Amino acid sequence: MADTALMPIPGMLDPVPVARDITPREDGRVDLIGLPRGRIAELFGEAGLDAKAAKLRAKQVFHWLYHRGVTDFEAMTDIAKTMRPWLAERFVIGRPEVVLAQHSSDGTRKWLLKTADDQEFEMVFIPDADRGTLCVSSQVGCTLNCRFCHTGTMRLVRNLTPGEIVGQVMLARDALGEWPRTGQADFAALGDDLVDDDGGYSADGRLLTNIVMMGMGEPLYNFDNVRDALKLVMDGDGLALSKRRITLSTSGVVPMMARAGEEIGVNLAVSLHAVSKEVRDEIVPINRKYGLDELLAACAAYPRASNARRITFEYVMLKNKNDSDEDARELVRLIKKYKLPAKVNLIPFNPWPGAIYECSTPERIRRFSEIVFEAGISAPVRTPRGRDIDAACGQLKTAAKKLSRAELDRLAEEKQAALG
Ligand code: SAH
Ligand code: SF4
Repeated sequence: MADTALMPIPGMLDPVPVARDITPREDGRVDLIGLPRGRIAELFGEAGLDAKAAKLRAKQVFHWLYHRGVTDFEAMTDIAKTMRPWLAERFVIGRPEVVLAQHSSDGTRKWLLKTADDQEFEMVFIPDADRGTLCVSSQVGCTLNCRFCHTGTMRLVRNLTPGEIVGQVMLARDALGEWPRTGQADFAALGDDLVDDDGGYSADGRLLTNIVMMGMGEPLYNFDNVRDALKLVMDGDGLALSKRRITLSTSGVVPMMARAGEEIGVNLAVSLHAVSKEVRDEIVPINRKYGLDELLAACAAYPRASNARRITFEYVMLKNKNDSDEDARELVRLIKKYKLPAKVNLIPFNPWPGAIYECSTPERIRRFSEIVFEAGISAPVRTPRGRDIDAACGQLKTAAKKLSRAELDRLAEEKQAALG
């Protein structure tokens, strides 16, 4: 069961999604991406394999899906030639569809993606000197309506399935050419003996090293699907990314935070953005339901938070709203009061058409940062990335709506060329 129903935004606060089964494909085949190994084995069993064969085939297929990134059963060279069409008749290896792919002059890449039922969502890749971070979406739109966030203005919301979430990571690896021996079609031609077991790659030198659940949506309102997707991302036989390299960002869904720590165990980021009830109620409306004290107490109780694994507080800099010296001092006081192992990310507000806020001045941001730093808390200012391609959440989706059909076709061609 996955929460995939479209849900109108019911108001400022009530975000409870309605669950329904994934719409079956018209051709009756089942998409394997997003399913745990045990479920793949069950499906193979239901399709006629005996229990032992089902388990073995599931292990092999899982490895091809997540370790090698193949998208074609014919490429699974250690599976008998006669078995491959049997698989292809019953199953598919899905990827989100790419509507638009953009490349910024600073190396940031952004994709507008589409689910099988035509819901659009976004993914961003941000390369840095020592890491490459993929910003992954958890929902189409968001029910939470934070006042400075463009995603919160979207009319319809639907939870992404585990396959659609992990599919973003798979697609990014496709686009970055990061599967062992790029050019997946070559696998079939290579034959078994030419494909060595470790796939000829190491974790070093990868472009995609980190994942942040900071794309569209509130991950803790799609808890089960986000957890199941991240389990696949962390699975040692699959994408094998360490939980230390994954960060989940929440606007403060307090009742789900402990479970996130226990059942997912990744790093936590909290979109704090304000230090008084009045301002946070206005800009992050979930604060009216779960207030600052409750939120910070939940942070203090977050499993395994420590100085080595600090909680990140995201703080968007809004001119004359949350950016005064007093705000900075109050931020320090709260972090110390709750004895939080914390760092603060100061994010210059990324404006969008119709936004009612402005970004704080660079001097104001620098002063705010200094005050927090002087109190012994790291508070770097995040450099805006990909400004030329509107790389902030929710912006590409709207921009794409304004392009003509011809422009979209041209971009789709470029995208094909970029993806090879
Ligand atoms: N819903 C989750 C995760 C997605 S938002 C959350 O709110 O934490 C990811 C981050 O981008 C959040 O910190 C959010 O506040 C920030 N953000 C959203 N819109 C922004 C904008 N226009 N400028 C700067 N940061 C923004
Ligand atoms: Fe949703 Fe996060 Fe945007 Fe708030 S900041 S509307 S929680 S995506």
